[in-house]
Amino acid sequence: MKLILLGSEGAGHFPRPCCFCAECKKARAKGFERTGPALIETTKGILFDTPEEIALQLNRERIKKVSAVFYTHWHPDHTQGMRIFEHLGHRDAFPERKKGPKKPVIKVFIPKGIMPDFKKYLPPIFYYEKMGWIKIFSPKNKEPLKFGKITVIPVNLKRKDRQRLAYVIMQGKKKVVYMPCSIFEMQFDPLFYNADLVFMETGWIGNTAKARAAAPKTDASHDHISFEENIALAQKLNAKTTILTHMEATQHMTTEKLEKLLLPFKLNIRPAREGMKFNL
Ligand SMILES: [Zn+2]
Ligand SMILES: [Zn+2]
Repeated sequence: MKLILLGSEGAGHFPRPCCFCAECKKARAKGFERTGPALIETTKGILFDTPEEIALQLNRERIKKVSAVFYTHWHPDHTQGMRIFEHLGHRDAFPERKKGPKKPVIKVFIPKGIMPDFKKYLPPIFYYEKMGWIKIFSPKNKEPLKFGKITVIPVNLKRKDRQRLAYVIMQGKKKVVYMPCSIFEMQFDPLFYNADLVFMETGWIGNTAKARAAAPKTDASHDHISFEENIALAQKLNAKTTILTHMEATQHMTTEKLEKLLLPFKLNIRPAREGMKFNL
């Protein structure tokens, strides 16, 4: 399988719009942008999430096809680029398709656990299906979905009060786990261990216990893990390589800062970079 991390930002955008701190100014001067969270497997065109910059990301990486999209959860940072279905699915957008069959229709996978959230918060996605641009599937938890030699398994994180998904992507003996967001208090599935590659959210910086105890339940610290928890989780999951993605512009987190923070730990954990590529 061939993977490209299309976007490594969390819910923000780096540099932060309207912020003129030294780091944001430096990033702007270099033309550096960190965009919303998304991963794509390019041999089959399997995309995970559609952040609002998805059209730019697909262009930047010269992606030729998107045939399937899997969603991790309904939150806007993972879904607001869903109008990409209109770009890709509308026959008028591809003159050569006018003559041929109406395909391709993109398969969109919204697993059972998160379907109620999509019905409540994201009605436009059902309009796209009505227009014939996508076909929505709602697989059961851990139902394996085949794309040639690649298998994608949706795994519900089984959090107490909210529905969040991770995806396990397998080909032969290779295994990748994508858990980019909102993994605090997730339940551990045997599939998560000993992978070749794990992508996980970048934790917030601060004293884990103190910061969380002081914060109201609605605070991000009750939805996301801390950096200390990143380290513990990476040790527990024991992947060959762990990539910290979904960095937060609100904390002005950067690849360079993360590299320094990771230095004392003798683990194969690396910060994400926009457009990083993996051949497995
Ligand atoms: Zn700034
Ligand atoms: Zn997120």
